[in-house]
Amino acid sequence: MVTIQFCGGAQSVTGGNYLINNGNIKFLIECGLLQGKAEADEWNYQPFPYDPAEVKFLIATHAHIDHIGRIPKAVKDGFLGDIYSTHPTKDFSEVSLLDTVHIMESDNRRLPLFDQADVHQSMKQWKGVEYGDIIEVDQNVSFRFQDAGHILGSAVTEVWILDPETGKRIKLVTSGDLGNTPSVLLRNYDYVKEADYVMVEAAYGDRIHEQTDIRKDILRQAVRDIIERKGVLIIPTFSIERTQDILYELNDIVENHSGEGKILGRVGKIDVYLDSPLAIKSTEIHEKYPQYYNPEARKLAKEDDVFDFPFFQMTADRNSSMAINTAPQPKLIMAGSGMSTGGRILYHEQKYLSDPNNMILFVGYQAPHTLGRRILDGESPVRIHGKDVENKIEVRKVDGYSAHADQNMLLDWVSGFESPKKVFVIQGETDASFALANRIISDLEYEAIVPEENQIIHLS
Ligand SMILES: [Zn+2]
Repeated sequence: MVTIQFCGGAQSVTGGNYLINNGNIKFLIECGLLQGKAEADEWNYQPFPYDPAEVKFLIATHAHIDHIGRIPKAVKDGFLGDIYSTHPTKDFSEVSLLDTVHIMESDNRRLPLFDQADVHQSMKQWKGVEYGDIIEVDQNVSFRFQDAGHILGSAVTEVWILDPETGKRIKLVTSGDLGNTPSVLLRNYDYVKEADYVMVEAAYGDRIHEQTDIRKDILRQAVRDIIERKGVLIIPTFSIERTQDILYELNDIVENHSGEGKILGRVGKIDVYLDSPLAIKSTEIHEKYPQYYNPEARKLAKEDDVFDFPFFQMTADRNSSMAINTAPQPKLIMAGSGMSTGGRILYHEQKYLSDPNNMILFVGYQAPHTLGRRILDGESPVRIHGKDVENKIEVRKVDGYSAHADQNMLLDWVSGFESPKKVFVIQGETDASFALANRIISDLEYEAIVPEENQIIHLS
């Protein structure tokens, strides 16, 4: 008998963790941290509902921490098996997991969930594989990665599982997280035709994105305006993908590749700083894998360094970061974290927030109660590093940079399957999950269910 247990990521965007068992072997898809919820800490520290020592291997669909963040804990708790992902996912995961250790160690409320040694041990067990290659783990299971278009290295995963009782292979396909196709840099998500069972994410299962074609115009106009008034433009960014999307578009805005040839200074001169060690490392990983970009970006990457342009600087070390303070204006500063919950962005917000000549451009969702949200909502003063700061900065926002597929795209991806027996809607909050499930049932006439946490379902 083959079963799947939804140990996490059921009626929850984060904490993805799925255990598959065919009686001969057990394996996992995802092993993520629960994030952004009151019960998250409690949940993450709980023992797994299975013995990690009995798990043969693990598949990671992409490097976001809500998909990989508990892997070192599984290793610490006895998981000895191989971890499979694409090559970029492996690289990003090492950087992100070490950063997670750093964040946990600076939080003195409780002991870290795992330490650097657990991350290093995880990386020893980690194997990077190519998109499209069929990996035969053993006689029980094989799998193949296709593109998910979400962040570099993200994968849709096809898994074939032997049912030892019938001798039949059951095919399960999981979306991982699906991208907001078409993206600036990435390829579109791949469709899969055949599957017995489908797992589809529903982070934006009840939302439709705004038009994306105007996002570059908003960015260009913000840069132009700040140059004209010799101000400071601050962009809080998420380190993987969003930062590289913006850099790629700034590269085009400054060098004008998509216009009539390379006309330098078309928007005027502005110093641009990427002031985030994590985003810098993440940009370097992007540069290592141009073969996974979409055709247009790949073509440009052959002629040009797509993340570098005149007057651009990466400020990894402390001194060069602090020198941004005294650098002449106009200037543009990108720094993390994306919702201003920590990181170097706080120093820049502290310094530049009270001057209406400056501007902050939000390129991602700002969760309630975060500093980013308070600034966006025009709250003043706001508290940064224990001090009140007047919030008089001009606020703009652009919505088109989401890395997630919206409801129509999720439905479009599911419609690529010919006749699945069942679709499991996962990785969405309860309302979003049911909204997507209902559309799958009404529009596609497929059976769709929203599993509960720890529910076990028999696959046949
Ligand atoms: Zn993700």
